[in-house]
Amino acid sequence: MADSTNTVPTVTLNNGVEIPQLGFGVYQIDPPDTKAAVLAAFEAGYRHIDTAELYGNEAEVGDAVRASGIDRSEIFVTSKLKNGFHDPDRVAAAFQGTLDALDIDYVDLFLIHWPMPTSDVDYLDTWKAMEGLLGGGKVRAIGVSNFQVPHLQRILDEATVVPAANQIELHPYLTQDPLREFDGAHGIATEAWSPIAQGKVLGDLAIAAIATEVGRTPAQVVLRWHIQRGEIVFPKSVTRSRVEENFALFDFELSTDQVAAISALNRDERLGPDPDTFGRVPD
Ligand code: NAD
Repeated sequence: MADSTNTVPTVTLNNGVEIPQLGFGVYQIDPPDTKAAVLAAFEAGYRHIDTAELYGNEAEVGDAVRASGIDRSEIFVTSKLKNGFHDPDRVAAAFQGTLDALDIDYVDLFLIHWPMPTSDVDYLDTWKAMEGLLGGGKVRAIGVSNFQVPHLQRILDEATVVPAANQIELHPYLTQDPLREFDGAHGIATEAWSPIAQGKVLGDLAIAAIATEVGRTPAQVVLRWHIQRGEIVFPKSVTRSRVEENFALFDFELSTDQVAAISALNRDERLGPDPDTFGRVPD
């Protein structure tokens, strides 16, 4: 039986909203499989779901939230603005589309999915439109995803609201320390996407050795490394045993040396696109 949900620590965002440090990601879960996957995650104890308009499964995430019988206030739901909706005039409608699809009254965290700095819409204008979503009771916090230091700096210099979170690719082969430090220095929580590098880091000999030392699986060791570095994670799996395995992170600890040894595996290797050049994908 998995641990109870109250063993997951929370991170307090810069506006006081609390986010569970461990969640469940639903990227690449087919819509017909999503409701059951999210319900299985709830059963295992997860209370934080990371979705996006782009994933095409917001409606099924909402179905699971409503079917779970869990009080809405105990669940944290993140979604993201789709890349084709950066035009400031389209942001409110896109957000309403997310709300309608989820059908759960409010979203806890809404992010700009990609900065797309080479597109014809300035992400700064998109961000100012995102600020307009606050105050209506439909979103508790707003943030960004895949933003680099110069993108964040422009927002800090020219906008009003500091993003509550920056969701970036981050795993032992891409530790993102400068960006993470910038986030931390400005009160922006760092969320790590592809936290186990889609499985790619799990065969690493250094990680395997630490897993043997602590008597845990490589996935648990890598996820625990994120937790001890203060990052928010939401590994994805549709396999029930892995969903439970990825949740069992709070009854063991890595030593400072073990955390440092995993951090030293960095080789600045991306699985996903480069945020500086990634452009608009078709709607
Ligand atoms: P991940 O690092 O969570 O890896 C998921 C894959 O690893 C699974 O498909 C499975 O094959 C394997 N796996 C999971 N648990 C395992 C275990 N215990 N043992 C062995 N293998 C295991 O990668 P991800 O799904 O790309 O990222 C997680 C979440 O991050 C996504 O679901 C999504 O919510 C978010 N994300 C966001 C962005 C963005 O641009 N903001 C991009 C990608 C992902």
